[in-house]
Amino acid sequence: MMIIKLGGSALTIKDATEPTIDEVNLDRIAEELSYYSDDMVIVHGAGSYGHIHAKKYAIGDKITNAQENLYKIEGLSRTQASVQLLNYIVVTKLQQRGIPAIGVKPSSFIITENKRIAVCDTGIIERYINEGFVPVLYGDAVLDLNDDIKFAILSGDQIITYFANALKADKVILSSDVDGIYTDNPKTNPDAKLIDIVTKDTQLSLTENEDRADVTGGMAGKINELLELAENGIESLIINAETPGNLKKAVSGKEVKGTLIK
Ligand code: ADP
Repeated sequence: MMIIKLGGSALTIKDATEPTIDEVNLDRIAEELSYYSDDMVIVHGAGSYGHIHAKKYAIGDKITNAQENLYKIEGLSRTQASVQLLNYIVVTKLQQRGIPAIGVKPSSFIITENKRIAVCDTGIIERYINEGFVPVLYGDAVLDLNDDIKFAILSGDQIITYFANALKADKVILSSDVDGIYTDNPKTNPDAKLIDIVTKDTQLSLTENEDRADVTGGMAGKINELLELAENGIESLIINAETPGNLKKAVSGKEVKGTLIK
C-alpha cells in the first residue's frame, strides 16, 4: 500500500493572494498518477486554498473572548469550504484520468488534541481501499479537544504520518516543488545542496516559510513528521512533483531522485 502526498505548492500557486490552481501541473500530475498499480491513498496539501484563510483567521490560536470565538467560527467554516473545493477539483481531475478517486473530508472524522490527531476512525479509509477506490484526503481545518483553541489546522503531512502508521504503508512518497531536502532553502540560497538521506542526526537549516504564508510549518514541519515516521520503521521519500515523469516513476515502483528520510 502506497501513501502519496501531493504538495500544496505543486497543485496551487502558493504565493497567490487568492486561492489559485496550478492547472498545468495538476493535469500532468493526474495523468502521471494514473499509472499506479498498487493500493494507493492520496493526501494533498491545501496550498493557497488553505493558508490564506487559516492565516487571516489565525485558526489554532488561543481564543480569549466571545468576539474572537465568533471570528474563529467564521474562519473554520470558510477554510473548510475552501479546501473542500480544492479537493473537489483534484478528485474530478483524477477521475478524468481514470483513477477511482473518492474525496474524504478529514474534518468529518478526525479531531485533534493540541493540534495532533486524537480521534480518527481509519476503518472507512481501509474499506474504500479494499473496495478498489483511491481515497483522497487533504490538509483541513478541524475541531480540537483543547477548549482554549477549539479548532486547529491539520496538515496533510500529519495525515500522512498518521495513516502511514495506522495502515502500515509499504511506501510513503511526498511530492513538493523542490527536489527534496537541501542544506538550506534552495529557493533563497543558490548554494544549497540536495541531501540524499536525512536521519534524526542530520543538521539542517530549515526556514519556516513565513514569506510563503505556510501555516503548517513548511519543510521544517514536514521533516519533523517524517522523522517521527522513521522512528516507527517507515521510510519516506521526498520528490519533486514539478519534474515531469517523477510521479509516474514513483507510482510505478521505479527509482526517483529525491531525499530519503530514514
Ligand atoms: P508543500 O506545500 O509542497 O507540502 P511546503 O511549501 O510546505 O511544501 O515546503 C516546501 C518548500 O520548503 C520549498 O518550496 C522550499 O522553498 C522550502 N524549504 C525551506 N527550507 C528548505 C530546505 N532545507 N530544503 C528544501 N526546501 C526547503
